[in-house]
Amino acid sequence: MPNSKDLLEQLLLRYEGITSSHTRKGELCLSGIVQIKETWFTIKLICPKFPKLEEMHLSVQQSIKVETFTETYTEIEANWNVFDLIENLPKLMNKNGIQKQNLITDAQQLELQQNIYTEIAILSKSDDFEIELNEAFTLIRFSKFNQQEQHFLELSLPSLQITKHSLPDCINWETLFQNFFTLNSLLEQFRKYLEELHEFYDNFVDIDELCHVLQPRSPSTKDNWRLFLLREHVFLKLVITDPFAPISSMSLKILGPTEDVEQLRRTYSEGLCNWDAEMDIHKNLLRIFDLCFFPMRPGIDGELTDGAVEEQQFCNICYCYHLDDGDIPLISCDNRQCTMIYHAVCLREWFNTLSDGKTFLKVSFGNCPFCKATLSTSFVELIKN
Ligand SMILES: [Zn+2]
Ligand SMILES: [Zn+2]
Repeated sequence: MPNSKDLLEQLLLRYEGITSSHTRKGELCLSGIVQIKETWFTIKLICPKFPKLEEMHLSVQQSIKVETFTETYTEIEANWNVFDLIENLPKLMNKNGIQKQNLITDAQQLELQQNIYTEIAILSKSDDFEIELNEAFTLIRFSKFNQQEQHFLELSLPSLQITKHSLPDCINWETLFQNFFTLNSLLEQFRKYLEELHEFYDNFVDIDELCHVLQPRSPSTKDNWRLFLLREHVFLKLVITDPFAPISSMSLKILGPTEDVEQLRRTYSEGLCNWDAEMDIHKNLLRIFDLCFFPMRPGIDGELTDGAVEEQQFCNICYCYHLDDGDIPLISCDNRQCTMIYHAVCLREWFNTLSDGKTFLKVSFGNCPFCKATLSTSFVELIKN
């Protein structure tokens, strides 16, 4: 009897348009498109007891019709598993009288569109956001949301597929926005998420304003991490993996010369016990590292105009500053007299040529290309992909 992991693999192989993910509660979620008996279905199946159907919740979209099913639906037989369920989608949808409406008539299509444009007309009276439409009326953009100025949402019409948005990239929004079929309900949900993300964004406000953030190059509402200066040659990388639960999902990596990192890591793990839930991440970090403030961006009042870039120190391997992906040289060796700094990618290449370079628990060890002193760093933390 194959276990559920093998069965899931089999299922994903058989139905290539389906992907698996987990809900925030940790239940298995299968979503995507399948073709059964020459009919296409878009499905979203939450299946906590996979491959069994107990406690499952299925939504199916066929053409413009959407139906939801649970295991108690009469047509679903007690001995079915997920495979039977998918193969029987045509039967389930037929029972609900879909067959007759398999083809949307022009009139129905028109009605569907008219509904959306009626909605737009009503929504455009709202003061809570701005609406822009393209000339062909195939794209709509909501922006300038009350109190959340930088956010926007762009949808294609009349399908209501999200084409662009300002929400954090680390979340699979496609699945979260899958089951909305009116403009208003989708927009409501978007604004609800903005509310829920308040704490996440608030935690970055002081870091962006009061710290010398080096990466991302210009942080946006889509970024869930910051890399900023702690002191010379030492950087903190803050990552929030679940923007809906910023504090419990945050992690902090310390990057810099080996000795500094070891000592600061101890300070940080000891300080974590006294985390003050009343204060934001920025203030807690100041407390933990016993600082009044983090080093600020050089320039007048922390302002940095594009022309007057801070004293940029080039990478001593490639002699550049910004690489194509925005990476800047940050890594220095353990020799305090040596002032050379390097890009993570350049250094990784250099380490690869070393016979005695090694990686242990995500930290790579080698020598400084310039002074040959030891140098340790975590490429995993610094290099995307
Ligand atoms: Zn370089
Ligand atoms: Zn060196």
